[in-house]
Amino acid sequence: MVETQHCTRAGGWARDAAGMQGRDDDVVLSLDGVTHVFETEAAPVRAVDDVSAAFRRGTWTAIMGPSGSGKSTLLYCAAGLIRATAGRILLDGVDVRAASERRLTALRRQRLGFVFQDFNLVPALTAEQNVGLPARFDGRPAADEAVRGALERVGLGDKLRSRPDALSGGQRQRVAIARALLARPAVVIADEPTGALDSRSGEVVLRELTTLTAEGSAVVMVTHDPVVAAHADRTLFLIDGRLVDEVAGGSPATIAGTLADLDTRA
Ligand code: ADP
Ligand code: MG
Repeated sequence: MVETQHCTRAGGWARDAAGMQGRDDDVVLSLDGVTHVFETEAAPVRAVDDVSAAFRRGTWTAIMGPSGSGKSTLLYCAAGLIRATAGRILLDGVDVRAASERRLTALRRQRLGFVFQDFNLVPALTAEQNVGLPARFDGRPAADEAVRGALERVGLGDKLRSRPDALSGGQRQRVAIARALLARPAVVIADEPTGALDSRSGEVVLRELTTLTAEGSAVVMVTHDPVVAAHADRTLFLIDGRLVDEVAGGSPATIAGTLADLDTRA
C-alpha cells in the first residue's frame, strides 16, 4: 500500500490530477518537494527544484522542457540512481531517498523498467541474455520462451544472439523495451526513448509503452517531441528544474504551443 499522506504538499495541479484520475491507492510513484543540487567546482546547480507530482498505475506521463531543465536528473532521482538532495520519493511504497543501496537494487530489478538511451545493456551479453538478466539476478530466471517472446514482440526475433555492439541504437532500445515487457514493472522510466530512433523502432517503442500502460504500469517518459508526448495521458513541463505547467491529453499542436510559451511563463 502506498502512503499518500506524503503527497499533501503536492501543488494544486497535482491535487487536481488526483481528483480527476483516480484513487490515491493507484499512486505507484510520488514525488514531494523533490530537489537536487549538484555541487560543482563553480556554483552549485539546482537541477531539480521542489518538484511534486503523483504517478498512477495504468497512466502514461510525458515530461518536456528545454535542454538542461532537469528532466533526466528528475528521472534518475525518482529511480534512486541519484540521491536527491531534499524531498520525498515513494516508489511502490519504498522511500527511495532513505532506502539502502541493496534495497534500491532489488527495487529496480523487481519493480522498475528502464528505457534509457545507451543505458543498462551489458555489452558482453546477447540480446536474449540482457532481457533475462534482471530476473536471473533476482533468483527467478524467466523461461527461455518468455524471453524470446518479448524479443519477438519488439521485432527482434532474429537478433536473439546479437550483442549490443552488433545492434543499431533503435534495436538496443527495443531490447530495453523487451526487458521491461518481461518484468511487467510497476513503473517504467524512459528518457527520450524515441530520441534517435528510425521510425520503425520509434513506432515499436511507442506501441509497447502503450501496452505496458494498458497492463498497469505507470509510464514516465521524457521526450522533446510533441508528437511523441501526445501519446501520453498528460505532459508535465519543466523549466530550470521547476514544474511549471501540465497539459492533460493534449494534441501535438497543444503541447507544442505550451512548450513555445514556456519561456514567458517561467
Ligand atoms: P535535461 O535532461 O533536462 O537536459 P539534466 O537533468 O541533464 O537536464 O541537467 C539539469 C542541469 O543539471 C543542467 O544544468 C546540467 O548541466 C546539470 N547537471 C546534470 N548532471 C550534472 C552533474 N553530474 N554535475 C553537475 N551538473 C549536472
Ligand atoms: Mg536529459
